[in-house]
Amino acid sequence: MSVNIDSLFRNADPVISDILNRTLSEKEISAKDGLELYNSDGMDFHLIGLVADEIRRRRVGNIVTYVVNRNINFTNVCIKQCGFCAFSRDFREEEGYFLPTEEIVRRAKEAHQLGATEVCIQAGLPPDMEGDVYENICRAIKNEIPDIHIHGFSPEEVLYGATRSNTSIDEYLKRLKESGVDTLPGTAAEILDQKLRDKISPGRISVKDWVDVIKTAHKIGINTTSTMMFGHLETPQDRVEHIAKIREIQKETGGFTEFVPLDFIHSEAPMYKHELHEGIKQGGSGKDVLLTHAIARIMLNNYIDNIQMSWVKEGQKMSQLLLMWGANDFGGTLINESISTSAGSEHGQLLRPKEIKRVVREIGRIPAERNTKYKILKRFDIADEHDEELDKVKDVSQFGSYVELIKIDKYKYKNPRNE
Ligand code: SF4
Repeated sequence: MSVNIDSLFRNADPVISDILNRTLSEKEISAKDGLELYNSDGMDFHLIGLVADEIRRRRVGNIVTYVVNRNINFTNVCIKQCGFCAFSRDFREEEGYFLPTEEIVRRAKEAHQLGATEVCIQAGLPPDMEGDVYENICRAIKNEIPDIHIHGFSPEEVLYGATRSNTSIDEYLKRLKESGVDTLPGTAAEILDQKLRDKISPGRISVKDWVDVIKTAHKIGINTTSTMMFGHLETPQDRVEHIAKIREIQKETGGFTEFVPLDFIHSEAPMYKHELHEGIKQGGSGKDVLLTHAIARIMLNNYIDNIQMSWVKEGQKMSQLLLMWGANDFGGTLINESISTSAGSEHGQLLRPKEIKRVVREIGRIPAERNTKYKILKRFDIADEHDEELDKVKDVSQFGSYVELIKIDKYKYKNPRNE
């Protein structure tokens, strides 16, 4: 750090400068310290960004990674009614869909031919679902495309599958692994505080069960991501406690590949639209979003190297700022983003590799394609810019959209109770 930065540190609030100095000395920062950082202002606020950026550079250098992947949300029919979810439909609703396995495989194959190394499979929880649906989907995909990575099934889905199969989490995860699941998304975490969960998503997987699924997955060799949804009813204290919980799990298992702060998309979210809770926010403020990524980087330093920002939620320009505030991973090309789009996000359903590379280069960093487990597949140090397969697709309407999908008759969900 230069002399000028030293003088900024000397003039900073002593509490903040002490926390940041300990961070730069690679010490562990407590949840209480994290909360102090949330209360910063003025120059102190900017120093937090500088320090997060510096420890990001130490951990992962100047590379910004991304994965070429496709989301396949094979059904939107769900027995739960999470207050933030505008994607799901009740099984009686007209707009419920369920993709047949052939269509799921076709989508995976199409993505693979366009360079995707991963399919991310998550969906609603349809009533009367057979317990082996997830396994059958994975087997069918791996049968056709053995080398595609299946990043599939949130802890909520794992719990549902185990319950529908009348088996333990441990046994069910082993079955999923055997059928081809490679890693799990650490979604359905929202905020790991039971009282808050009972408010924003009553009936959703409990904190205890979420932790149980994640730890069991890690123990049997299935890595997962980790996430946090913020900018709704939670306080900064809830956030830092959530991050500290994730860190404790990581110390025990080492199974998380990344941490992803997910900004609440409010406009179509039922709990916002129907004013279900007093004081509900419209997602994080700009300052909040920057601080959340920086504080995650600082608190998870030495434990989780990869902090991902969500271009779907933040857009391209805010994503660039977040990459300068502690984030190092751009996430995926997605191809069929539906969850945030249905909640009102307007940043699109797909980003092509060439668009990701441009966004990364505009801030002077080096784009690199990774696989799901963060192995670098290809660095793009110089802008050679030959088009990748996905870049060559002229008309993205070939991938379909959520709005179209919920209207297609042949994919309409058929309630087994009516047959
Ligand atoms: S978030 Fe998942 S579990 Fe909750 S309503 Fe939506 S699809 Fe269902």
